[in-house]
Amino acid sequence: MEIRLASKVGFCYGVERAYEKALELVNNNEKVYIYGDLVHNNEVKNELMNKGVGFFYSLNELPIDSNESIGIIRAHGIPKKEKDLLKKRFKEVIDLTCPIVENVFKYAHEMQKKGYFIIAYGKKEHAEMIGLKGNIDENKIEILKDPKTFKHNKICVISQTTMDYHNFKDFASELTKISEYNEIAIKDTICYETKIRETEAKDIAIWSEFVIIIGGKHSSNTRKLYEISKKYNKNSIHIDSVNELKSYELSKYEKIGILTGTSTPNKSINEVIEFLRRGF
Ligand code: SF4
Repeated sequence: MEIRLASKVGFCYGVERAYEKALELVNNNEKVYIYGDLVHNNEVKNELMNKGVGFFYSLNELPIDSNESIGIIRAHGIPKKEKDLLKKRFKEVIDLTCPIVENVFKYAHEMQKKGYFIIAYGKKEHAEMIGLKGNIDENKIEILKDPKTFKHNKICVISQTTMDYHNFKDFASELTKISEYNEIAIKDTICYETKIRETEAKDIAIWSEFVIIIGGKHSSNTRKLYEISKKYNKNSIHIDSVNELKSYELSKYEKIGILTGTSTPNKSINEVIEFLRRGF
């Protein structure tokens, strides 16, 4: 049996950076709390909790010992107002917003200063989009997934970093046709990690007889890879852990492909590879 593993697997740069920092701090005996889930993966969350990292999900329910703890802002970023509040309530706040996300916030802010209305292709409820809105003038931005008509002197179209590149191109092209403006700026702000993983998902799905997509069931980027793979190979499955593989008859496949989301830990990937190599 041949196994083809995607070249980009495991945590993406932004998640790895936040994960390593959280571990470094607890190993130095600091009390650490992360605002929101670092990634949509229960295994990772449990591992961090076992090592002493705490989590909180609302500014109304801050940890009681926040004033003697370090608060971590995860890779998606948060609104500025929230960051300011955390700074008042924690001994220290470490902002681990991914630099790629940070650059999108800065770009949108600069464009607003130049008079552009921002149109962000993304999901309104996604943490990164909430962070974007909360770091710029929220009256001069709209976040949406389906193009509609805008009437502004200057419009600037950007994307959530984890959206599909081809869909973004279609969105921007349609919006350009139906909107009224004097100036338009279209900037592809999709993260390179997202693009590489999506391109590979297609290649691997075409090459394989069976594709295993490893990642949390709530991880939207893992689900997206699954959708891409399924489009090119109906023998694609999305699993959380190696245990789910046991119900499949894998011995009949000669070529098995493996893809992972940006929140999938290396441990889960190694367990799947070991399972396949052992011959079930
Ligand atoms: S997907 Fe890209 S932008 Fe998002 S956290 Fe990972 S590296 Fe950063």
